[in-house]
Amino acid sequence: MKITDVRTIPLFGETPETGWSREPGPEENLHTLVVVETDGGITGVGSSFTSRGLVDGALELLRPNLIGESAIEPERVSEKLLQMTFWQGRGGAVTHAVSGIDIALWDIFGKVCGQPVGRLLGGYYRDRIKPYGSLLFEDPSTFPDVLTAATDRGFKALKLGWGPFGRVHAAMDEKLVKTARETVGPDVELMVDAGGSDQFWPHGYKWALERSKMLADYDIVWFEEPLPPDDIEGFIRLRDHSPVPIAGCEVLTRRQSFQPFIEQGAFDIIQPDVTKVGGISELRRILWSALDHNILLVTHGWNTALGLASDLHIAAAHPTARWVEYITPSPYIEEIVTSPFVIDDNGLLEIPQTAGLGIELDWDRIKHYSGGIG
Ligand SMILES: [Mg+2]
Repeated sequence: MKITDVRTIPLFGETPETGWSREPGPEENLHTLVVVETDGGITGVGSSFTSRGLVDGALELLRPNLIGESAIEPERVSEKLLQMTFWQGRGGAVTHAVSGIDIALWDIFGKVCGQPVGRLLGGYYRDRIKPYGSLLFEDPSTFPDVLTAATDRGFKALKLGWGPFGRVHAAMDEKLVKTARETVGPDVELMVDAGGSDQFWPHGYKWALERSKMLADYDIVWFEEPLPPDDIEGFIRLRDHSPVPIAGCEVLTRRQSFQPFIEQGAFDIIQPDVTKVGGISELRRILWSALDHNILLVTHGWNTALGLASDLHIAAAHPTARWVEYITPSPYIEEIVTSPFVIDDNGLLEIPQTAGLGIELDWDRIKHYSGGIG
């Protein structure tokens, strides 16, 4: 079975808030679906965390090496694309585009084999996994309503990030965390994301260490990106001294970029994004490297139903998986599938067991968010 075409579908209109210094707004296209067609009548769909213009530009470069290739060898074909882009776009938008292609190829491979991707990745260590709802911090006066809406939806773990945290003063940081803990009670797991990949992040090691001590008082599961993403020396020191586990790496792409952070023990938890890092193939290599260094991996591909489905299959085949990220609410996760993801009474999501990524896309809804492109 050969690849005959590849095309892109932008998603816009309900783009979730990012918390970035310049908030993109709902009409901006940050997430792009990648559709791979074959001569066997089977189509695969992936997702890239980057705008359509950039994915289309990357496809101009990638297409000659993709069209006519095997449609059922995702790892080899994606690695070939990564190798041939050493000279152009390595690690940037081109790698994001390869991620979308790779996810689509795993979807095709699974459909052709009649097996779910999780089985092809090694097998099911579990059939359910806990999603943590991702929320942006907001003013303590309105934050309780946001938290309650998330726990009412069934989330038993929530990550709170960005917004005023780290951007006002120490008392505000503690007030935000205290408000959250008092609102959700002791049994909901809480994580805190400083959002150090925000532009011109001003804080360093001492700020991060002080905040980590405060977070420990509120039983926070992990402290994410308290330093700028490339500050490897800072993270190594912080991990040694922080009373709460330190997480990061969501902006890194390519397995080679993760190696120094993994080998030097910069993090307790690494968070590669399947829609950026190079796809499922690349994330699997990072996963096994992290496992061999006893570092926990928690996936970050929360941005569309395809990203979440990929994360669920990776979690199936991940011996120590504990959570997947789930931004909430997000129409690009919840509305573009015919059967929405359901959080059960224990706060868990079922991992699909049908062929490929195991989700059915709702093309009318996709066209609603793509300006009619489908
Ligand atoms: Mg984050």
